[in-house]
Amino acid sequence: MASSLGHTVEEMIGMSYVSLFPEDLLDIYRQQESLRKKGDDSVYEVCLLTKNKERHWFLVSAKALIDEYGRFEGSFAMLTDINDRKEMELLLAESNRLLTELSNTDGLTGIANRRNFDMTLEREYSRLSRTNSYLSVIMLDIDHFKEYNDHYGHIAGDECLRQIGKVLADCISRSVDLAARYGGEEFACILPDTDVHAAVKIADKIRKTIRDLKIEHKKSPVCEYVTASLGVATVRYERDRSVEEIVAIADRLMYKAKLSGRNRIEYAEA
Ligand code: GH3
Ligand code: MG
Ligand code: MG
Repeated sequence: MASSLGHTVEEMIGMSYVSLFPEDLLDIYRQQESLRKKGDDSVYEVCLLTKNKERHWFLVSAKALIDEYGRFEGSFAMLTDINDRKEMELLLAESNRLLTELSNTDGLTGIANRRNFDMTLEREYSRLSRTNSYLSVIMLDIDHFKEYNDHYGHIAGDECLRQIGKVLADCISRSVDLAARYGGEEFACILPDTDVHAAVKIADKIRKTIRDLKIEHKKSPVCEYVTASLGVATVRYERDRSVEEIVAIADRLMYKAKLSGRNRIEYAEA
């Protein structure tokens, strides 16, 4: 143990166990100490401070020493150096977290991707079956975006998609809401526990904020700036309705908004 911590054996004589604990892990020490005082043994993982004040992982197997009258006398602990394994474990956990994040994120805009949208909608709809609440879905499609790309080029098109992704992310405020790139120039939001009025308010804020970005679009017959059309579908749970149907309803409403002039919202409570 001394060599793992960078000390000589002589240096460690008289050193208290608690003095090896990093400040933020003192709760673990106290919790373990109180277990020992009750006479309980335990095995736990902890990092202790080396001579250079770096953290080093150990597996601690601790035993309470109880005298013949049942009184607590002290503790006996055996420490195993698990630093290499622990560092590998933490590295693996971090790369797993990063991989999950990457597989749920759209590379261009940085918001949720289609896969994340599908999984979240499935989860929220099944949660809805246990409540008597509403769930709203917004579908958004940029108006005349083909003309935008043709006129300003794909790089400008990509930048426009990035800005619109940011608008969606900024316009939803609760942690349970999700803004996603559904594909191409289509975006979508999932708003759990949100009735049609609240959802329309959010959709209109998104529509206005996109318009107020004032991204020049000379080829659009709708407006001198980039605009979008949105469909808002609000549902309660129904056993024989699938999540695909909710998306289809929002999509139909979005096309209705296109047909009635674009840069607008159509909504329905199903
Ligand atoms: P509407 O108002 O009816 O929606 O017309 P639109 O031109 O927006 O619709 P259309 O479906 O005809 O064209 C969509 C265009 O979106 C086609 C493509 O050029 C563009 N697009 C899709 N994905 C991307 C992308 O990742 N980057 C860029 N730059 N453009 C994209
Ligand atoms: Mg489209
Ligand atoms: Mg479009």
